[in-house]
Amino acid sequence: MKPSFRKIEAEIKKLSLSILGISGKIFDNPELNYEEKFSSSLMIAELRKEGFSVKRGKAKLKTAFEASWKGRFKKPTIAIIAEYDALPEIGHACGHNLIAAAAYGAGLAVKNLLGKECGMLKIIGTPAEEGGGGKMLMIRDGWFDGVDAAMMVHPSNKTRVVARMLAIMEVEFHYYGKASHAAAHPELGINALDAVLSLFNSVNAMRQQMPNFSRVHGIVTHGGDAPNIIPEYASAKFMARGLTMPDFELVSKKLMECAHGAAKSTGCRLKTVKNRLVYLPFEPNRTLGKIFAKNLKSAGLKEDRLGETEEIGSSDIGNLGQVVPALHPEFAVGDRKTVNHSRGFLKAVTSKKGTDNMLKAATAMAATVIDLFDSRESVKKVREEFRQAR
Ligand SMILES: [Zn+2]
Ligand SMILES: [Zn+2]
Repeated sequence: MKPSFRKIEAEIKKLSLSILGISGKIFDNPELNYEEKFSSSLMIAELRKEGFSVKRGKAKLKTAFEASWKGRFKKPTIAIIAEYDALPEIGHACGHNLIAAAAYGAGLAVKNLLGKECGMLKIIGTPAEEGGGGKMLMIRDGWFDGVDAAMMVHPSNKTRVVARMLAIMEVEFHYYGKASHAAAHPELGINALDAVLSLFNSVNAMRQQMPNFSRVHGIVTHGGDAPNIIPEYASAKFMARGLTMPDFELVSKKLMECAHGAAKSTGCRLKTVKNRLVYLPFEPNRTLGKIFAKNLKSAGLKEDRLGETEEIGSSDIGNLGQVVPALHPEFAVGDRKTVNHSRGFLKAVTSKKGTDNMLKAATAMAATVIDLFDSRESVKKVREEFRQAR
């Protein structure tokens, strides 16, 4: 028989000391992309202790893991996603320690409450969300094959269950010109900095014609060596984002054209270096979102009134959402002005509100997983939406 919501809530409460322990330890040991040795080992050790079978990743994915609990039914397979990477300089200012703790808590609560009365439950540890594309490598290596639905919860400046995310690409532009004396013989030089400035101006001019929600933003990474030398080399790094694949491809193509145009007009040679990691647009599974939203409400966490496309960024959950039905709800840890990747957010992550809301989000996640194990019909609907969106 399906456990009541109050029972699920009580189970998370019972586990709260160990959930908060995991959160605190990962927070105190921030690790960068693909270096999450402490965090992944901690999760693995704790989940093994609770009877989960654990598989670790290899080579670049050595900090990835899958902890599984096999019930007596073959289907469905539900995955709870854990992230645990931190940011350079500002540690867990994206609060991934809370994501890991919520995944551990929700997974353990489901296992404790259902025992063998379920299908396959997986807690999948995905490294390097902050720019490293851990989920992309894991998708490539088949970690999500056979998963019927996947979900995680992410700390934020707002509480919102269903939100889309932008596709993103990153590219470097290297311009090569010719050095010369800037006063005596400027006519012999080819100014690479002019190419970079021209690139920025072209990008600024194209902004007005970009599709809605698209973003293009860049920095100068090299602007010359001395003001009395015509710069022979200058470079810039850009990111382009779009809400849909056609928008994203259009904006990326326009950016590349601006870069080539700048080379042509200044007489520079251009070398482009594209980052191979491209995060795809995230389409949340709204059927899954409805179940989660109902449970979040029962857990006492109120959603902020925000549309699906307001205040959105990018994540490798986008790539995951292309291969399995996925959900990435956000829960507030501070106030609306305290945004991810800031010093204020770092504080909010360990605040009472932050940890209380994480426990509520974990409760909602556990209840959602239980709902899916309880109802084949729900899983069918979730998968049906996914199929139709393809
Ligand atoms: Zn994050
Ligand atoms: Zn982040």
